Amino acid sequence: MIKLFNTLSGKKETFKPLKAKTARIYACGPTVYNYAHLGNLRTYVFEDILRRTLKANGYKVKQITNITDVEDKIIKKAQQEKKDISQITKPYEKIFFEDLKKLNVEKVEGYPRATEHIKEMTNLVSVLMKKGFAYQGEDKSIYFKISKFKNYGKLSGLKKRQIKIGARIDSDEYKKDDAQDFVLWKSAKSGEPSWQFSWGAGRPGWHIECSAMSAKYLGLPLDIHAGGVDLIFPHHENEIAQSEAATGKKFSRFWIHGEHLLINGEKMSKSLGNIFTLRDLEKNNVSLLAFRYLLLGTHYRKKLNFTWQSIVASQNSLNRLYRHISEFSTKNPPTLKLLRTNKKLVEKYGKLFLTAINDDLNAPKALSVAWEIIKEKKLSNKEKKELLINFDKVLGLGLKDVKIEKTAEIPQKIKDLAQKRELLRNNKQFIQADALRKEIEKLGYFIEDTATGPVLRK
Ligand code: AMP
Ligand code: ZN
Repeated sequence: MIKLFNTLSGKKETFKPLKAKTARIYACGPTVYNYAHLGNLRTYVFEDILRRTLKANGYKVKQITNITDVEDKIIKKAQQEKKDISQITKPYEKIFFEDLKKLNVEKVEGYPRATEHIKEMTNLVSVLMKKGFAYQGEDKSIYFKISKFKNYGKLSGLKKRQIKIGARIDSDEYKKDDAQDFVLWKSAKSGEPSWQFSWGAGRPGWHIECSAMSAKYLGLPLDIHAGGVDLIFPHHENEIAQSEAATGKKFSRFWIHGEHLLINGEKMSKSLGNIFTLRDLEKNNVSLLAFRYLLLGTHYRKKLNFTWQSIVASQNSLNRLYRHISEFSTKNPPTLKLLRTNKKLVEKYGKLFLTAINDDLNAPKALSVAWEIIKEKKLSNKEKKELLINFDKVLGLGLKDVKIEKTAEIPQKIKDLAQKRELLRNNKQFIQADALRKEIEKLGYFIEDTATGPVLRK
């Protein structure tokens, strides 16, 4: 039984797909005008854990993630660089897919582009006009009238902000403490891309693309709509208003939101300029799956402060995990007797893992079950390895691909340096000891301080 925290009800609820065995998920995708930063990637990794968990429970998943390839920021950048918008969006779209692959984020069932669904969007705007939920301003742009939609604010709790009746906004992102009529269709401006529409040429607002594409590919109500918490208001609130006003149907049964990745206590975001991307991790020789491991260590609904120290610690833990797997592949094959008595224990650990991840995607707890298995004396190495590789269908840490490690011969010079470091440490001369550690690392080796003393590795 899977429990998920539903932002709509403010509670954990049991999740089952509405139609048979297929969970239909819509997750808001990237605006492709720049590299995805580590914060964006945290959201995509949490959504990946969500779909992998559903699959581990025997469900099929049909997930759609849109590509926003026309939008204010894209147009601004294209104008600055004197390019066509697709010259901006295409390269970054490609990099987005490469980044996801490096983080073992599974490909989803569809990545529709906004520019290829203008017809679906204008159809939706026409319905909203016909039903009186939308109006054309004197600027010829079309706006959604929030005072007409009775349930406006049901996701985000509108009490927190003022409804400014009659006030309206034509930019896609706006201050979170106001609720205003928002733009559905922006009238054409010179130097901007535009498409024909019976109400006048223009381009879609950001919110309408998700309403149009989710309905087209998944049908309403969606089982799950996911995204980062910053999207709850106004984006998701506006999606609900558009979709429910147009169709009269519930838009999504579950709303699942992932918390932010912070840096120095602040949200990592392009506008604050405090971002790192996967390229920064690569430059610092951090494996990208170490970043995934770091993300798994904090529950998706908790804020996570990114530090270089924490990523190095994750790298060490992941390396240790890999080494255990590698050792399990080589040493002491299980005896028949062990195999017979352990079936129950194997099942117990399998259940412990699933119970953890099914409890609102508690990845930190699931990860701790993996470490418990490593320490379990009653399991054979083969059983441990099989369990861990099975868990990895959800964790996605590349455990299946771990090569059997050949213990590298450590040159005497390195061993001497390590011994000198150990002496310094015993003498509490930590600064000098650390300088030696760095020297050893420069020579291509590293020291892992374990409970039984330092271990050198290539
Ligand atoms: P964007 O490309 O800005 O539209 O954002 C893509 C996704 O990343 C959305 O689901 C956002 O909610 C999410 N996001 C943006 N910043 C962060 C952050 N610092 N931490 C986690 N998720 C984020
Ligand atoms: Zn969206």
